[in-house]
Amino acid sequence: MTVEAQRIELFFEGIKKLPEMAQPVEMSDADRLHQVKTTFLAKLNRRMAVDLESCVHCGQCAEACHYYNATQDPKYTPIRKVELLKRVYQRELSPTRWLRRLWTRDITLDEVNEWIALVYDSCTECGRCFMVCPMGINIPAMVNVSRQAFANAGLIPVELRAMEQEQYAGNTLFGIGPDQTEAAIREIGDKIGVEVPFNKEKADVLLLTSVVEVMVFTDQIASAIKVLNHLKLNWTLHMDGFEAANFGMLSGFEPLQKRAGDRIVKTAKKIGAKTILVPECGHAFPSLRWDQANEDEQEFPFEVLTMAELMARELRNGNLRVKPIGKGKTVTFHDPCKIGRHSGVFEEPRAMLGALGVEFREAESSKTVNWCCGGGAGVFLLNSAADLRQGAWKIKQAQIDATGAEGVVLSCASCRLNFEKGARNNHWDKPIESLLSLVAENLDE
Ligand code: SF4
Ligand code: SF4
Repeated sequence: MTVEAQRIELFFEGIKKLPEMAQPVEMSDADRLHQVKTTFLAKLNRRMAVDLESCVHCGQCAEACHYYNATQDPKYTPIRKVELLKRVYQRELSPTRWLRRLWTRDITLDEVNEWIALVYDSCTECGRCFMVCPMGINIPAMVNVSRQAFANAGLIPVELRAMEQEQYAGNTLFGIGPDQTEAAIREIGDKIGVEVPFNKEKADVLLLTSVVEVMVFTDQIASAIKVLNHLKLNWTLHMDGFEAANFGMLSGFEPLQKRAGDRIVKTAKKIGAKTILVPECGHAFPSLRWDQANEDEQEFPFEVLTMAELMARELRNGNLRVKPIGKGKTVTFHDPCKIGRHSGVFEEPRAMLGALGVEFREAESSKTVNWCCGGGAGVFLLNSAADLRQGAWKIKQAQIDATGAEGVVLSCASCRLNFEKGARNNHWDKPIESLLSLVAENLDE
């Protein structure tokens, strides 16, 4: 077994222990229900009201959802996942609420408990349903509000709660904080013969990392270092703001989402960074680029880029040079939902694969209608979602197999973990590679 395979196994074993680490959230049943309802009411806006009034019950969102497709169970119909939000809207805010109250039941805590498995286990907030809905109903945005409401009621699933509590209380994840991260990355730097520029007082680029990279996919960190040095950028990894993973976003616990985002923004401002570079981590990018920017309500004095965007830009500018691998290597690309569909980064990874000269096979459903790997939005951590995740991953596997490509390239560590798990469970032996690592291995120095 390779070192990486051992790390992956250890990580999966660690996930099984997360429920023991979660602290209970004491709250009366009445308070929990009150929290859910008041959060719904605080978050409902005009856009959601229009969405909740517009559904024509065509069922197209069901066909688009990997969890419905994998199970054919109508309970996984996407619009049904926001049923509780809809009923609170209909009874409390809709223009015809006085009438609707006659036939619309108030929500109960039993229903809230039932819906935990729908808004966490069976929704990766991938947005595929949103893409196909003829009414343009933004279901993932409303699932996200449901997660926020459940988080305020102390009803986050145990695995995500353990991670949220740890990151909120101590700025560590799996026991790994600034000191452990710096030590681990220093070691990675030593292995590739590079002194890592930690904690510079001034730098143009603030590179982030994620705990999954530190624990499992260290090749992605080594590759980021190689690419930034190849580009001769003035960059740093700063231990005041280094962790891209945001368990506030994944769990719906907004105070943590803001706290984790603030750490990075403050650090970037302090060192005068012009660019924050998000590692290959799907949810980290929209959390910082969109949610944090909206929350701060002011223009960032820096840009927030994915590694793929930086590499493609520098390739265009002639600063990044790669050695072509050649057509002997046949690959397809998996678009991480949060970087692709949510953020529009489609062409940059393909430009990099084009520069590498590999034979590229596009999957039948890709880019805006790409199938999710089944593990996004923290679902890869939920032990209760194992079967759903596997069912969803088989759709992905079939799509990749149909391309005839020898392997798959991706740019998200969570997707990569989910692919590794799916591959193990299904005896699938195609190479699963990081785009960043593929580029770093083929730099033309
Ligand atoms: S966002 Fe994705 S996972 Fe969630 S309901 Fe829509 S298609 Fe399904
Ligand atoms: S696709 Fe849109 S309109 Fe059709 S059932 Fe789903 S949410 Fe309703």
